[in-house]
Amino acid sequence: MTATMTPAQATPGFALDPERVRTWAELVVCSREPEHFEVRTPMSGEVIATLPLSTPEDAERAVTAARSSQKRWAATTFEARRDILLRFHDLLLDGQSELLDLVQLESGKARSQAHEEVADTAIVARHYALTAEKTLRPRRRAGAYPVLTQSIESYLPKGVVGIVSPWNYPLSLAITDAIPALMAGNAVVLRPDMQGSLTALAVVHLLHEAGLPDGALEVVLGRGSTVGNAVLEHADYVCFTGSTATGRRIAQAAGERLVGCSMELGGKNSLYVAADADLDRAVPGAVRACFASAGQLCISTERVIVHEKVYDAFVPRFAAAAAALRMGSALTYGYDLGSLASAEQLEAVTRHVDDAVAKGATVLSGGRPRPDLGPFAYEATVLSGVTAEMACRNEETFGPVVSVYRVASDDEAVALANDTEYGLNASVWTRDVRRGRALAARIRTGTVNINEGYAAAWGSVAAPMGGMKASGIGRRHGDEGILRFTESQNVTAQRLLPIAPVFGMDDEKFAKTLTSALRALKASRRA
Ligand code: NAD
Repeated sequence: MTATMTPAQATPGFALDPERVRTWAELVVCSREPEHFEVRTPMSGEVIATLPLSTPEDAERAVTAARSSQKRWAATTFEARRDILLRFHDLLLDGQSELLDLVQLESGKARSQAHEEVADTAIVARHYALTAEKTLRPRRRAGAYPVLTQSIESYLPKGVVGIVSPWNYPLSLAITDAIPALMAGNAVVLRPDMQGSLTALAVVHLLHEAGLPDGALEVVLGRGSTVGNAVLEHADYVCFTGSTATGRRIAQAAGERLVGCSMELGGKNSLYVAADADLDRAVPGAVRACFASAGQLCISTERVIVHEKVYDAFVPRFAAAAAALRMGSALTYGYDLGSLASAEQLEAVTRHVDDAVAKGATVLSGGRPRPDLGPFAYEATVLSGVTAEMACRNEETFGPVVSVYRVASDDEAVALANDTEYGLNASVWTRDVRRGRALAARIRTGTVNINEGYAAAWGSVAAPMGGMKASGIGRRHGDEGILRFTESQNVTAQRLLPIAPVFGMDDEKFAKTLTSALRALKASRRA
């Protein structure tokens, strides 16, 4: 395997270290003479590295190799796995500067938002390192006969977990599902998006530095529809993050093979500013919720719903704050809004805004590409007057485009929040947290943030996150986030007497005795 690179001139004075790139490329499962692909940075459009391509056959080989390493990995103690992840946590924080560069170079996002990925990965690593043993500890369960039947529920690894991750959070989404999968004793085969491959390889390299043995986590690189598909076709569990359209196809294939899957898919997330919201908090909070990572975040807000009592006070301040975001492409802190990730993203965002404007929407701020700031840069855009005929009303834009809606009551706000096929994330701004929780219970999304856009629920990794409706199946984070990578097993021992007639009893007597015992058991449980 070879890898070459050229300096990223978008960022004066910066160049990827060719030795580092070569080391990362060594991790790719591929043939001896592989084809290569170019990694371009959306910050300037330039090639920053070339990496080896795997084939679908390499992907199958990676799953086979992972399957044979898995048994050794599963035989390690929780303590050993915990130590690796805690070392990884520290290496990640210590080595964050290189990772931040890579995340920015591959995604185009602002550095502060790249840092969210580092923080998220550290939080997830610490959480599962410290909790996996307790969550997966075998548990005594009530047996069929008290005392005589002893039942233990335990959690066995699935085997090989196949992970396909997208480009928008190249660090977080490549590794934060792998972490609980590994803690549960699985081997992992990861196919990161091609525009995220450098970051994924760098973080896997860091895991190896932390002590992860060879074979526990294999990486293949290539197109999703070929190489990604081959990983998922052979894995014992399918873990996918991406669009709803692709997720449906992958879930169907997993269903055909009767293997488990979790699907983290799209969203059309709402944020409600209630009549009693603190606007000094709600304005900057809504701006973060809508425009972090240039809106290319599955849980970011695309619909802002405002109570009529505060509409006239909130909306102009919100539009002005969006217009005041510091746009720019540099590998330094100090910018709020980076670039979109690709020409396809720029095309999709432009199409949604142009369609809305052509059909009568009003642009309250933004609404233009900014080629002066980068080939795919686009302004933070706030629209009003968006109607059902406009693509951006119901379709996920996945960019820095948000529409505002006026409502007369909380009931109307809840109805509008739920008026979408998606159910990923929502946000409610109110001074009364109890009222916020009551509203949240009526909103059909996997996470609801009160007085925060997305980061509160996302960062609270002890609780699950994921999608209802067309936003997915299953959950990452929390106990569910690790239990999904296990098979529960019920091992029950029968002592002294069988579950059958004894002492010469006939079947009828046994049935009567059992019936009396069942009545007595119910009475004793209710007492
Ligand atoms: P996409 O579905 O087109 O692609 C996602 C990934 O899947 C890509 O890496 C792609 O190469 C790969 N892929 C495509 N076809 C495949 C196949 N047949 N088999 C295996 N892999 C395949 O989505 P996208 O547009 O690249 O990503 C953005 C979408 O992801 C948005 O809809 C966004 O909301 C969603 N997303 C969801 C979450 C979440 O946690 N819910 C997080 C991030 C992104």
